[in-house]
Amino acid sequence: MNDETTYHMTPDQFRRHGRAVVDWIARYMQQIEQYPVLSQVKPGEIRRRLPASPPVKGEPFEAMMRDLDEIILPGITHWQSPSFFGFFPANASGPSILGELLSAGLGIQGMLWATSPACTELETHVLDWLVDMLELPQHFKSTTAGGGVIQDTASSATLCALLTARERATDFTSNQRGVDRPLIAYASNQAHSSVEKSVKIAGLGRENLRLIEVDEQYAMRPDALEAAIKEDKAAGRIPCFVCATVGTTSSNAIDPLRRIGEICQRHGVWLHVDAAMSGTAALCPEFRFIHDGLQLADSYCFNPHKWMFTNFDCDCFWVADRAALINTLSVQPEYLKNPAGGSGGGEVFDYRDWHIPLGRRFRALKLWFVIRHYGIVGLQHHIREHVKLAQEFASWVQADERFELAVKPPLNLVCFRHRGGDEINQKIMDRVNRSGKLFLTHTRLDDMLTLRFCVGQTHTQRRHVEQAWACIQATL
Ligand SMILES: *Cc1c(COP(=O)(O)O)cnc(C)c1O
Repeated sequence: MNDETTYHMTPDQFRRHGRAVVDWIARYMQQIEQYPVLSQVKPGEIRRRLPASPPVKGEPFEAMMRDLDEIILPGITHWQSPSFFGFFPANASGPSILGELLSAGLGIQGMLWATSPACTELETHVLDWLVDMLELPQHFKSTTAGGGVIQDTASSATLCALLTARERATDFTSNQRGVDRPLIAYASNQAHSSVEKSVKIAGLGRENLRLIEVDEQYAMRPDALEAAIKEDKAAGRIPCFVCATVGTTSSNAIDPLRRIGEICQRHGVWLHVDAAMSGTAALCPEFRFIHDGLQLADSYCFNPHKWMFTNFDCDCFWVADRAALINTLSVQPEYLKNPAGGSGGGEVFDYRDWHIPLGRRFRALKLWFVIRHYGIVGLQHHIREHVKLAQEFASWVQADERFELAVKPPLNLVCFRHRGGDEINQKIMDRVNRSGKLFLTHTRLDDMLTLRFCVGQTHTQRRHVEQAWACIQATL
């Protein structure tokens, strides 16, 4: 040991190993169809192959890459496979992966404007671009009283919206003195579980979440919402938050935003719109009907990390009144005070006051790369293709009298089932997933086991959808 001792990877080693890693990823993209989509390992199988203790002495990079192939890869479910049709997509793309790598290489902390001005300004700029790209309300732009921020997930966006709604409903006193009156939140009974989680975290109490009935398309019934709000008001409780969903996880139902928004305005309730997966469809003018009435919303989010070719994590969240959000979340310890200080309404934003954590990654870089690589035209092309493939799949289901559609698919998610009941649908799902040729998941609609087929993986083409349908039919 002397002063010169170092264990670090040198820039030259980094260059060499880095090239190997990029080659590995490119090969993975080319060979991904060879792997079973759903990992076939049993619980504990991966851990059993790992050494009990960490290495005392450093190991060569090649050893790590070998174990990546031999130990890790068998335990991967290939979300990037073109035959992945389960849950929702978590798609990625070359420009996004490279943007992520550069973000790691820069290794910055974007908590304040002053800690890396480009991180904040690029984020603000790209989110303003997206307002135009999706034709969102102009009052979400940073040049108005509103603005956008990148959150890790839609769950966090919903929590931030709920916290802000709670404060607005109590003259910004709940975060000083705690909640002393019942504050009520509303969402449809098809809303994502993150709404319930947010209600628990925000201290409203699970009992104060009202799950509103839906219509036969599984969309929230505005009359039932208004009745619930009126009942709570009459009982002296404070309705503070409605979460409407554009594209529910279960069946892609689209809540009627305009009618819900009018009710929220009438009763002074915050309206948050969760469009986690389906928001991306609004890149195409013909799908913008999903956002009809969005101008009545106080906040909105969608996930480029689901369907917009941007690897996890990246949720875009906008508010119409950024002051309310900042007032809710801002704290000013001495060690973070700085002359540029964005949160007092100064010239710049300090994004730490727009979300839960202090530290923040440079996520805008990958999003910027994706938008620039594809261009609006390229993004629209691939979204249209996905919707077209899903609609084609739906037409094949309809043409086979053994099957039925549970709902008419609005976009890229097809909910369907064999007419023979739960047992046979379970068997179909188990068989196709065990085959490794494709992966799909299920939901329950009207208490019937229903198969979900979601088209949204970056490289899914017609032949993958055809093969999937053939594979499903072959199980019978
Ligand atoms: C996927 C999904 C979520 C959760 O997304 P995260 O970003 O993982 O929190 C929330 N709402 C809807 C409608 C979704 O589809």
